[in-house]
Formats: sequence, C-alpha cells, structure tokens
Amino acid sequence: MKVLVLGLDGLSPQILKNALKKVDLPNLEKIIKKGETHSLLSIPPVTPIEWTSIATGVNPAKHGIWGFTKLIKIIDERKDANEKSYKKITAKWRYYTSKDVRFPRFFEISSFKRKNTLVINYPLTWPIEGNWNTANSDIISDTLISPRVETNRDDLKKFLKYFDPGLNPYDKTISYIKGFEKIIEEKSYELYTIILPFPDQAFHKDPDEVLNIRKRSRNIWEEIDSLLAFFLNFDNIFIVSDHGLAAYRKYANPLVPILYGNGYEKNMFTIAYTIVDKLSLYLKIPFRLIIKKTLIRKYFNFLRYRNELYKLNQIEAFTGYESEIEKIGFSHDMHDPADVWTTYFLNDEIRDEIIKIIKNDEVSKYVDIKKCEELFNGIYFPDFPSALFIPKFFNDTYLDFSRYPFSLSRLRLDLRTNHHIYGTFIAYGRGIKEKGKINLSSPLTNYDVSPTVLSSLGLQIPRGIDGKGIIEPIGNPFPYDIAMRIKKI
Ligand SMILES: [Zn+2]
Repeated sequence: MKVLVLGLDGLSPQILKNALKKVDLPNLEKIIKKGETHSLLSIPPVTPIEWTSIATGVNPAKHGIWGFTKLIKIIDERKDANEKSYKKITAKWRYYTSKDVRFPRFFEISSFKRKNTLVINYPLTWPIEGNWNTANSDIISDTLISPRVETNRDDLKKFLKYFDPGLNPYDKTISYIKGFEKIIEEKSYELYTIILPFPDQAFHKDPDEVLNIRKRSRNIWEEIDSLLAFFLNFDNIFIVSDHGLAAYRKYANPLVPILYGNGYEKNMFTIAYTIVDKLSLYLKIPFRLIIKKTLIRKYFNFLRYRNELYKLNQIEAFTGYESEIEKIGFSHDMHDPADVWTTYFLNDEIRDEIIKIIKNDEVSKYVDIKKCEELFNGIYFPDFPSALFIPKFFNDTYLDFSRYPFSLSRLRLDLRTNHHIYGTFIAYGRGIKEKGKINLSSPLTNYDVSPTVLSSLGLQIPRGIDGKGIIEPIGNPFPYDIAMRIKKI
C-alpha cells in the first residue's frame, strides 16, 4: 500500500477554487475529478488543536491539545508569619509539545504496525521522543511552535537544511517541497506525510496575495502540482487542511462586558474603522490597502494588546514563564489573541459568573460561550476550568479579543482576515466511492480524516475514535490507546 497525506495549513474551499481557476494545475485537477472533495469542520479553528484532531480522529478532551500554550496549575501551600496556612494558585505556561498528545496519531499507528512511514513537519512532533511509536518512521519534526528542527534518523540529517523555520512563508514552503522531493528520490515508504505552512502563514502576512492567487502564491501552487505527479499512481492521496482562512466584516469582542462593563463601546477608533471601511467599499479599494497600508491600521497594530509573554523568544518560552494568574483574573490563550477561542478561568465560580455576564450582555447576540466539558468528551481537559467562545454567525462575525481600551468594542466593523471553521479534504484512490463528487455543503469533520487514512493503509481504526472514515473500515476498532499509555513522557 502506498499512501500520501499532504497537509496544506489553512486551505479553505474558496482558496482552492480560486487556485484551480487562476492556475493551470493538471495533476490536482485530475485528483479532484477522480476523488471526493469535502469541506471539513474544525472547532476551534486553531492550528495545533486541529492538526492533532486530524491525526487522531478524536476531540481535544481525548487528545489533550487546547491551543498553542499549555497552562499548568501550581498550588502553593504555605504558612504565614502567624503559622496560618494559606493556599495560592499560580500558573506556569509553556508551548504544547509531542509529549502532550494523548491519543495515537495515524502515523504513529502506521509505524506501530510496521509500515515504513515518513512524517515531515507535522505539528507537535517535537521533541522526537515525545512521539508514541517511531520504530518504523522517519521523522523531521515540525517548526510551528518548537525551538528547533530534529530528525530521528542519521541518514535524514543531510536534508535538514531544507527545513529552515527562519525563511519567509513562501520560500519556506518551496524549500520544504524541495526537501521532501530529495528524500523521496532516495527512500521509499508506505505512508508519506508532509504538512506545508502554506497558505496559513503567508495569508496572515498578505491576505490579498493568497486569496487572489497573486504571483508568489501561483508559484507555490505550481510547485505543489508538480510534486503531486510523483504520487498519481499511489493507492491513495489525501489533501487536507486544519481550518480555512477568510475575510470578515464583523468582529464581536466578548471581553468588553467583562473588562469594562458598560460605556466603552462608543469609542472613536471603532467609528474610525467603520468609516474607513465603508469608504473603501464605496471607492472599491482592495481591502489589502486598508489592512496593510492605512495609518490607522498601523496605529492599531502598534497599540494592539500583545501579551508580554508573546515577546519571549522560543527558547525562553520553553524554559517556562511564571505569571500570577490571580493578577490576570482569567486568561485566554497567550499565543495570539486573534486566533484563539479557548479561555481559562481561575475557578468554577469565576467561570459561572463570567458566563452569566456574557449571556446577559448584548454581545451574546454575536457570540456564544460554552464550557469545554459541554462541548467535548474525554478525560484530558485543561488544568483550569475552561470555556470556548464561539461566534454565532460563522460567515460574517468573528472574534476580537483585544484588551487594549482603544480597540474595544462589542461589535466592530472593518474588513479583517482570520481563520475560518471550514477547511478542505480531498480523498483520491482506492475505496473512494463517490468519484468526482464535490460536496462543500455538508462538511465532514477533522475527526473523519484519521479513520480514512488508517483504512486506506489496511489498518484497524482505534477504539474510542470520534470520527467516521469515508473508506470502509478494516475489522473492529483496535485498543491502540492501551499501547499508547506506555508512551515515555
Ligand atoms: Zn493552521
């Protein structure tokens, strides 16, 4: 069996459509024509969470990844000068790593089942020893939130130069493709897995370039298409993204009622954004000008709240950083406020209180808040009580978590770009029943990818999986989770 899993970070059905329209992509077209194409639901649409949901086929409460950063509860029990004991709760944070993944991923299962497996740049494969089974896999670890790139094989070390995380998103993608091609010229596998940082990382820099397939994006699409030529006679090809990317006109800020009560929503900046935005619509200025070039945008970025922790470099971040959570009161994920839906609370009482405030505020017209245990089932919840903010109108309202007073509003109007809950899944080859079908209106979920990939490899799916594959499963579910528990951490 020969199977390719190609991940394109953030590929939305719309970007795929634009690429097929504007660029000549014969191999990709063939794959779509003979395969099945679906939109893929991801909640929350956060890169590390969703690549893990894709690889495991289970929800965050079973795989244990809740964002970019893991908050670790520290309970400090001491006695004061009068010998009275008191309890202080603080939090430490670090980035998630491979060691935090609690459910077997399809490439770990494939290695466990003695299939030669190649894994390149899969989020949360660093450090190597945190992966469950690497006996039959060649891994080049990811660069998303890890301090360096590593491999578990000496004969792959000479290829590491192609996987330089310091390059800009375009050169990086091209270089990763080149490195992958060099490796597969030399070595042969049954499962080939590679995740490319495109379009996500480029999109955050230049949304217009990526959405409208300008020159640099076109170049990448052509490289991807020529890469696919090598795999056309494989048993299966899967092209998958962790979430989509989109432009939004409405942003609702669920933090406003909590931080400032009433009265702040009428601030000048919100009005200014709205005016500039309306003008740009009227004058038909491409939104890129508004996003990248206006003085207001620059000013906004300058003022925008960035957590102090975000300024630390990767190495420092890994050694851990202590913050007193009492001072913050509650904290949303610290990596990038714009991309994050998971929110943590000091205790259950505070969480209940805040949920009540939000539900009674007008922001609840746009945003829902739900306790994580109401949305997910499993045993690996965060250390602190948590909740998820979910925009109510997926296609036109998104979340704005800005905490700087000048950018606060319950509902802001201007065109900005962000992640989207619909990604893409293309499945091609053996066992694909509905050939040529493009079904974007009834999405699959990210949990459906892993069982599909495992069935294509002739492997049983894991016991306790949440997704359902689109290829007939082999035999009964297998208790890989028991083998997984002996993972070294
Ligand atoms: Zn992503």
